[in-house]
Amino acid sequence: MTWDLIIVGAGAAGLMAAPRAAELGCRTLLLEKNTKVGVKILMSGGTRCNITHATNQQGIADAFAAFDKKQAGFLRSSLAALPPEKVIELIEGEGVATKVEDTGKIFPVSNRAIDVRDALLRRAEKSGAELAIGAAVTDIDKDDNGFTVKTADQPFTATKLLITSGGQSYPGCGTTGDGYAWARQFGHKVVNPVPALTPITTDEQWVKDLQGITLPDAMLAIVRNDPQQEANGYSPKKYLTSRRSSVLFTHFGFSGPAALDISRTVTLSNYRSSLKLVCDFLPSTGFEDFRAQLTDDCRGAGRSNVSAIVQDLLPKRLAAAVLDGVGVPAAKKAAELSRQEIRRLARGIKAAIVPISGTQGFQKAEVTAGGVSLKEVDSRTMQSRMIDGLYFAGEVLDIDGPIGGFNFQAAFSTGWLAGQSVASSIDVTSAGNSGG
Ligand SMILES: Cc1cc2nc3c(=O)[nH]c(=O)nc-3n(C[C@H](O)[C@H](O)[C@H](O)COP(=O)(O)OP(=O)(O)OC[C@H]3O[C@@H](n4cnc5c(N)ncnc54)[C@H](O)[C@@H]3O)c2cc1C
Repeated sequence: MTWDLIIVGAGAAGLMAAPRAAELGCRTLLLEKNTKVGVKILMSGGTRCNITHATNQQGIADAFAAFDKKQAGFLRSSLAALPPEKVIELIEGEGVATKVEDTGKIFPVSNRAIDVRDALLRRAEKSGAELAIGAAVTDIDKDDNGFTVKTADQPFTATKLLITSGGQSYPGCGTTGDGYAWARQFGHKVVNPVPALTPITTDEQWVKDLQGITLPDAMLAIVRNDPQQEANGYSPKKYLTSRRSSVLFTHFGFSGPAALDISRTVTLSNYRSSLKLVCDFLPSTGFEDFRAQLTDDCRGAGRSNVSAIVQDLLPKRLAAAVLDGVGVPAAKKAAELSRQEIRRLARGIKAAIVPISGTQGFQKAEVTAGGVSLKEVDSRTMQSRMIDGLYFAGEVLDIDGPIGGFNFQAAFSTGWLAGQSVASSIDVTSAGNSGG
């Protein structure tokens, strides 16, 4: 039989598209390479799954603001079709309660990503969409009747084809960038895929020695090396990008939301070897106010040594590393610090400079930046502007958002809209979803 719609890839986008199309009467087949669906959902948010992001009174404005201008414009129709609150409604409708955390991130109350994945799977199964797991698509052909989709076991045919095969980050999960080759084969431009939301590496041993320390509130900025700026302290005008959020020190460098969110600037840079991080470990106070406060603290410290003062501000190991880095002896009496030493110490706390060696690349990237060019996909339907009946949704597209649930939201919304558009483009009145 010929299916109305074949969807390649049962991740966030495919699991949203399949039930939407099937519920609207499309005979839908969802093919997944892995033996389980939604592998990235299972591993997401530290296995808690940050489903989406809470919106404010302006509705979907927050979701738009998270993406760059071009991507936000492209997402307008899909976010309107399936806004964050509707995603939550769907998941809660399957019996999975959700909660909004202080950061605006939305998680299942259970903190179990598997509950979210199972909710999506249940909905897909109820819709009548057929699911084939362990079905890696190897080739796709098109003729006047539609698409032939080949797997190792058998070929399948369909009138419409939706590619939701994801990007190429965490390739061990099945996302090996297969969709890009098919897109190119059909004449689509693919914007060079690069890793995004990936940890930043450094060769600095002092950073690696801080492995395991988390700072809930820090600011990381990326600058191009400039000796003059470095001598006086980099002006924020020189920041190529910056992010204030939590930071995790690891045995290779920096992870956590602040580092992940700015990593795209490293992977996209042509000047990677000259990039440096500016680290503000106490971003809630401006530099001059902080220096003045530090001066007062030191002057009034009596017989305390400087390490006691810094340990009041930073975790012990970080405090020791900062003092060492700025050449102020930890055992020195705080009251005896010179103005120069206090200034150096303030710089070490609020503007520590760390040379960047690179990133952990696709192996550890949460998303892929780049992908099928948005110019060649109709954002109102997700249909290719080049090939009739071909659709794209999710991370295979040139869309990548920051940490916070925005990437799932983009995948869910574009998947939903694609499923709905396919259904409205074919005559489903006679077919129903009885195929198999
Ligand atoms: C460690 C980690 C944590 C993350 N945490 C979050 C988070 O908390 N919140 C958030 O918003 N985002 C998070 N993300 C990003 C999010 O997972 C992705 O943006 C999202 O899954 C993209 O959805 P998608 O459906 O486009 O692609 P995927 O979910 O990647 O799905 C693509 C599917 O296609 C299948 N496939 C590929 N090729 C073929 C083929 N040839 N034949 C058949 N099937 C194929 C793959 O096996 C896969 O199942 C995280 C990512 C990672 C790696």
